[in-house]
Amino acid sequence: MMIGFPALMYYFWVCLEYHQGRLIWPTAWDLGSLASFWWNDLWTPIVQGAAPTMPAFSIYMGYVLLSFVLAYVANGPIVAGLPIPSLKGARLKYLCNGLSSWYWTLALAAALHSTGVFDLASIVDHFGSIMTIAILWGFTMTTLVYVASCVQGTNHRMSGNFFYDYFMGASLNPRVGHVDLKMWAEIRVPWPVLFFLSLSCLVKQYQVHGEISASLSFMVLAHFLYANACQKGEECIPTSWDIFYEKDGFMLIFWNMAGVPFTYCYASLYLLKSELATGKAITHSLPYTIFLYTLLLVGYYVFDTGNSQKNRFRMEQNGSFFTRNAFPQLPWGHIKNPSYIKTKHGNLLLTSGWWGIARKPHYTADLMMSISWGLITGFGSFLPYFYFCFFLVVLTHRVSRDMERCAKKYGDDWVEYCRRVPYIFIPYVY
Ligand code: NDP
Repeated sequence: MMIGFPALMYYFWVCLEYHQGRLIWPTAWDLGSLASFWWNDLWTPIVQGAAPTMPAFSIYMGYVLLSFVLAYVANGPIVAGLPIPSLKGARLKYLCNGLSSWYWTLALAAALHSTGVFDLASIVDHFGSIMTIAILWGFTMTTLVYVASCVQGTNHRMSGNFFYDYFMGASLNPRVGHVDLKMWAEIRVPWPVLFFLSLSCLVKQYQVHGEISASLSFMVLAHFLYANACQKGEECIPTSWDIFYEKDGFMLIFWNMAGVPFTYCYASLYLLKSELATGKAITHSLPYTIFLYTLLLVGYYVFDTGNSQKNRFRMEQNGSFFTRNAFPQLPWGHIKNPSYIKTKHGNLLLTSGWWGIARKPHYTADLMMSISWGLITGFGSFLPYFYFCFFLVVLTHRVSRDMERCAKKYGDDWVEYCRRVPYIFIPYVY
């Protein structure tokens, strides 16, 4: 995976940049054809178009540095995480300043662009090189965190196999000062970078063609909603599985720093590149466009309120709940007097709201949004559908792991929960 992820990212980039999004492969499978494919169709274009450059370094690392500084200094509520067994039950504190940092970043981007100091369109102009910098940073940060944890002796659940430990991580909660590196990497970098990539495509479209299309506006809205949701719900993240249990290794660091933004962005890139190549924006009939906007917004509503219902319910139980006016606060995001199952373990399992309808309603909603990102591009290329396909596999795998874990943890209470809420994704279907 450590070789495969970057290789796939470059492959997709070559397909889009040089072949209008068409997937390419060798003309024959003998050694000569394979070597020629590798050299002429992959390596040479990558070296020519995606080598690291100073502007790309400044754009990407400038953002990474800015987001880290904001995470250090911006205002926000402090939330306690779950008790950590390896720290003798101590609860770490998390400064949740994602929202104020996000607003500062948006304001700064608007100021830099409107004053001509930094043209947002240059992000997409330097896409290949920025992606390379992100990949290199993904490896560099993984190595730094790994070495620091070995030096500080904070290694945790090590297997003894270097490659496996490098992939899964050594340290559970690496920090620089009060900034939790895992939480910072999980929400401050991937989603805002994804949003700015899409915004850059929209700005470029306007600069070249003098107008913006409904399809590309759709993608900017979609990525804005996702990035905004991560920042406005940040206080719910310290109690999540990733923060509580997963270690900070290549899997999380690389995927957050490079994988998410540079593979989830293909719908926006494809819409722009196809218009630049043909001179015509990809547009759809009004009913189809309205259908997709509805799919996105309904998906977002269930995703936002579904996560919020469960997380707020859990926060109420562990005494960390507080009301927040982060925009948008949607109706039904907080259930008063919910029904639940009291487990022998002590935790309560919510059976109200979306959680009385399905066991993973927020996954269904997330998948609705991700398929809409592909459908808005039409059917000219597989690349914009990669995210949906990949995500379907990730979530299906996560569901089975999670159900297994919960069945072990809650025993009979889980059986009762599954009886009361029999469907996982869609009521009466699955
Ligand atoms: P979930 O929100 O599915 O959390 C699962 C945990 O929640 C369970 O292990 C259990 O934990 C608890 N739980 C399950 N059912 C109930 C219930 N009825 N009442 C109370 N607690 C319950 O975790 P994820 O982190 O997988 O997903 C969070 C969001 O992030 C989702 O919307 C998902 O789509 C999104 N996501 C997005 C990704 C992307 O790349 N775009 C990647 C991964 C996730 P406990 O042991 O505490 O009981």
